[in-house]
Formats: sequence, C-alpha cells, structure tokens
Amino acid sequence: NKVILLKKRPEGKPSLNDFEFTEEEKPQPKDGELLLKTKYVSVDPYLRGRMRDEKSYISPFEVGKPLESGIIAEVIESNNKNFQKGDFVNGMLQWKQFQTSNGNGLNKVDGGKAPLKAYLGILGLTGITAYLGLKKIGKLEKGETLLVSGAAGAVGSVVGQIGKIKGCRVVGIAGSEEKIDRIQEKFGFDAAINYKTTDNMKKAIAEACPDGVDVYFDNVGGEILDAALMNMNKYGRVINCGAISTYNDTERPTGPRVETTLIKNSILMQGFTVRDFVKDFGPAQKRLAQWMEEDKLTYMETVVEGFENIPQAFIDLFDGKNKGKMIVVV
Ligand code: NDP
Repeated sequence: NKVILLKKRPEGKPSLNDFEFTEEEKPQPKDGELLLKTKYVSVDPYLRGRMRDEKSYISPFEVGKPLESGIIAEVIESNNKNFQKGDFVNGMLQWKQFQTSNGNGLNKVDGGKAPLKAYLGILGLTGITAYLGLKKIGKLEKGETLLVSGAAGAVGSVVGQIGKIKGCRVVGIAGSEEKIDRIQEKFGFDAAINYKTTDNMKKAIAEACPDGVDVYFDNVGGEILDAALMNMNKYGRVINCGAISTYNDTERPTGPRVETTLIKNSILMQGFTVRDFVKDFGPAQKRLAQWMEEDKLTYMETVVEGFENIPQAFIDLFDGKNKGKMIVVV
C-alpha cells in the first residue's frame, strides 16, 4: 500500500524533495469501518499553506505524516451500515492507495448523475467557492463588470461563467495565450489579459474594462490585486478568495498599498474560506448542477495519471500547467 508523506516543509516553491514515498501494509477495516480505494485525488493551491507550520483555519500537515486532500474513493469492504461495497465517497482523505475510515465526513457521490471527478471540481469545493464567493460577497448585479484572476483555473473559470449567466461583462486574467483564447472561446469571457506578457496591468485592466470594475474576484493576490484595486468603481466589491502569487514567498509580502482607492471609492474588500458557508453547500451544488444540465455551465480539467504523480501535479499548479481543475486519477 503506497503512501505519500510530507518529508520536510517546502522553502519557496515546493519540490519533489519535500515529499516521501513509503509503503505500509494494506489496512483491515474494523467494526464500523470501511476499506477505501483511492480513485481521484484533488490537488489544490491551499495545500501549500498547510505545509507551513502556521496557525490557520485548518491544521498544518505534520512532517513525516501522510498528506491529505479532497479524494473520491471506492468502498471496497464495508463494516458500516451506512455504506456498501461499490459505493463511491468524497471526503478529506490521506494520500494512500488504500485506507480505512469510520465514515465520518464522507459523502456518497453518484457517478450516474455526473462524472465522479466533477465532485472534486465544478460540483465540489472549487465550483462552490466560485458560486458562494460571488453570491455572498460579490453581490453581482446584471450589467456590471466582473474581473477575475486565475481565470483559466478551477475556481476562476466557474466565476467567469457565472458572471456571463448573470448578464455581466466578464474579463479574465490568466498566464498564457492559449488560456486567454480558451476562456473567451469556451467560457464566453468578453475579454482576457495575459499577465505574463503585459507590462502595465493597471492600464491593461483599464482598457479591457472601459466602464471600470464593479466586482473583482481575486485568486492570485500580489501585484495583480494592486492593479485591479486601482480600477475599481465606486461601491465596488473585491473578493479575496486566494493569493497564489504569494504562497511560496519566504517573507510575508506587504501591501496592497493602494488603500486610498478603497477609501475614495467606498470599496468593500473581504476575504473568506468556503467553509464559512457550509450550510449553503447543498443549494449551491444544486444550482451548479442545474446550470450544467441547462448547458449554461461547463468545465475544463487537467487529468494526470498515477498515484506517484500526485506531488508533481501539485507542484505544477504553481507553474500554471493546469487548465481548469487539476486532478490525479489513480
Ligand atoms: P487553479 O486551478 O486556479 O490553479 C492555480 C493557477 O494559479 C495556475 O493554473 C496558474 O494559472 C495560477 N498561478 C500560479 N502562480 C501564479 C502567480 N504567481 N501569479 C498569478 N497566477 C498564478 O486553482 P484553484 O482554482 O483551485 O484555486 C484558485 C485560487 O483560489 C487559489 O489561490 C486558491 O488558494 C483559492 N481557493 C480559495 C478557496 C477559499 O475557500 N477561499 C477555496 C478554493 C480555492 P496561470 O497560468 O494563469 O498563471
């Protein structure tokens, strides 16, 4: 039974040397327990935060212990009346090929309704993050301009599509020509900016958003956030969802240093973690599924094969190698 441990806390960008592969005996489920076989593993930018020894909304990983993330697993054996052999479950599980669980925190997923992988992406926490971040903080209105960074990623690509469903002008920021073409062609973004080839992001945003920005959904933080803030309209809303551009920083970044624009324009800027809204997950998932059924919402995935490639797939998020949700199939 293969297991992936955190070997040491990464300094800067994570590397394969920060992970350790080991083998353990395949576990046996006790009374009330299930034996699970890992099928699909979600790798996510926030896992980088858990690799730091830092207090946060979720406990840090321990050195020498298995890593964990959102996983879809198959029930191979069940000594728990709530689950049957052959069920598929979704939950926060360890990076192991096989593991036991008492079933707490696991949700059954129905592969007949949507591909199982979708429960890690568009119908899972990333889709729900996009939907609830926009709804609870963005309070997006028809006709407004929505700007989103990380726009070709799992969360960002859903944010942009919801903006189009709501009748907004949607502008995306992403890191390659292929990505900016894709989000316009596949997801209907009105305009897109390649931040890697743009010297002046403030100006590029102003050009792509001739009526200014009403809602900025920020997935990346740093200089792109600064540039977006300088383009906000009166009573604009800034949703701090993520700050991937700073996750590997070894010193805590300063900024944003453009607070006078917040003051002058009465901007609301609010961070959140999707778990703040747990009680809204059910309705959010239903709404996303309904839009998918109506062909208003679609998604991209980058699927990597092989248990041993989980760490590399995670590292690749920081090089933008994914389009849409990054998933490892085991
Ligand atoms: P993505 O699918 O968007 O993958 C990460 C993407 O980030 C990459 O593809 C890359 O795209 C971009 N990126 C990497 N480095 C940089 C950089 N230095 N500057 C700008 N962009 C960069 O991941 P998710 O959709 O899963 O997550 C997006 C963000 O949302 C993350 O910051 C994450 O932490 C956050 N998040 C927050 C949640 C919450 O509850 N608040 C829940 C889920 C996610 P590119 O090629 O465009 O550079």
